[in-house]
Amino acid sequence: MQKIKIYNTLTGKKELFKPLKKGFIGMYVCGPTVYSNVHLGNVRTFMSFDMIYRYFLHIGYKVRYVRNITDAGHLTDDNTEDKISTKAKVEKLEPMEIVQKYTIDFHEVLKQYNFLPPSIEPTATGHILEQIEAIQTIIDNGMAYVVNGSVYFDLLKYSEKENYGILSKRIIEDTIENTRELDGQSDKKNPQDFALWKRAEPAHIQRWNSPWSIGFPGWHLECTVMSTKYLGDQFDIHGGGMDLKFPHHECEIAQAQACNHKAPVNYWIHTNMLNLNGKKMSKSTGNSILPSEIYTGTNPILTKAFSPSVTRFFIMQAHYSSVLDVSNGALLAAEKGHQRLMEALNTLDKLKVSKTSTILISDWKQKCYNAMNDDFNTPVLIAHLFEGVKFINLVKENKESLNQIDFNALKTTMHDFIFDVLGLINITNDTKNSAKLTGVIELLINIRNEAKATKNYALSDEIRDKLLAKGIQLKDSRKGTTFSL
Ligand code: AMP
Ligand code: ZN
Repeated sequence: MQKIKIYNTLTGKKELFKPLKKGFIGMYVCGPTVYSNVHLGNVRTFMSFDMIYRYFLHIGYKVRYVRNITDAGHLTDDNTEDKISTKAKVEKLEPMEIVQKYTIDFHEVLKQYNFLPPSIEPTATGHILEQIEAIQTIIDNGMAYVVNGSVYFDLLKYSEKENYGILSKRIIEDTIENTRELDGQSDKKNPQDFALWKRAEPAHIQRWNSPWSIGFPGWHLECTVMSTKYLGDQFDIHGGGMDLKFPHHECEIAQAQACNHKAPVNYWIHTNMLNLNGKKMSKSTGNSILPSEIYTGTNPILTKAFSPSVTRFFIMQAHYSSVLDVSNGALLAAEKGHQRLMEALNTLDKLKVSKTSTILISDWKQKCYNAMNDDFNTPVLIAHLFEGVKFINLVKENKESLNQIDFNALKTTMHDFIFDVLGLINITNDTKNSAKLTGVIELLINIRNEAKATKNYALSDEIRDKLLAKGIQLKDSRKGTTFSL
């Protein structure tokens, strides 16, 4: 097994990764709050963890990867309204219609961008009972209190024995100053205490029964409950964007510690932000690009459309912990690099194999692994893959040679990293496949025309309907039949 070093944001150090159970990894990543379309920044974070998941699988780990869907409890920035309920009112829909709509959008984006599905994708609303049980445990352990039907985590009590701020390195006094006096906070013993359960105001439409009131659970609690339910009281990796470090992840640690008396997570991984126009991409400020606007080229900053694989390549060219700026120029450059990589793969298939090798492929292969073992350094990996491209072109020009063993190693390594680990797609193959598909549909249109000519309407309708069921629509006009996919 490869030895991996991970930058652990809990300790602020790059550490040798040791899973709790040899050969197995438990990884939890905070999923999206499904109240609007995911933007490219969200995609960057999830893609970084997709790459990490892919690499663990590639080197032989069995991974239980849990990424949740936040479909309740996430309050707006001013702490007054639930994001999903607010959107439901604006769009005049049921909260669960909002959840369904944007979960479908999220899954569609993941499919377009070639994500592997997580092992479990739990929802907050599917775990209300577990959240109520966890709150009761925290109350029983003396670290939460009930006021007017709401339950708050008692941070000063917790801090007598435990270290609140262990992850974000904030000191509790600072968090008091940073907490604004807002709606409902007057109930709290101390302003920095956070809600585990909130009594629902009459206008609040997502509500459940509990021992304390009809209300809804706090956002931080769902991740504590779902991560520990599926991965255990202690698990290997917890991830998310670095904007979640405080207060969300800090509170997760406090809640889990208050429930189970154990630090829940061994390695915390935080990804950096995707910027647009020099500022963090964000739903609330509207400074964002939708993934679909990139592959349709409909965003005003773009001069053309960029395929999901090119966008993936663009994201993978930066280390997950660096800030990345998206722009038309950066995507154009990524497209060129992506094309060079894919053309080299097509050339590789046609290379002549020699009896002897003049290139040390095993050293190069190890360099690719070393890059990934060094905190998943995809930009360095990509630089090595371009060295692989150089080898391919030199062999093609008869300036270097490869024997069968080295040829196989070069081909396998290029394919493994480009497709399995980085998750890219060979567009030239895609284009070939789409040309084949067009040919097959045209063949069916011809058979349908012949059926119509012999008045075999049953067959002609069957062809039309069955193609439609596969998402292919035939359109008849005086000029003939066309189709749309
Ligand atoms: P949310 O749906 O707002 O809870 O965000 C889902 C994930 O996207 C979280 O892990 C956030 O940290 C992450 N995220 C939000 N904005 C950005 C951004 N501009 N760049 C990268 N990740 C982001
Ligand atoms: Zn979370």
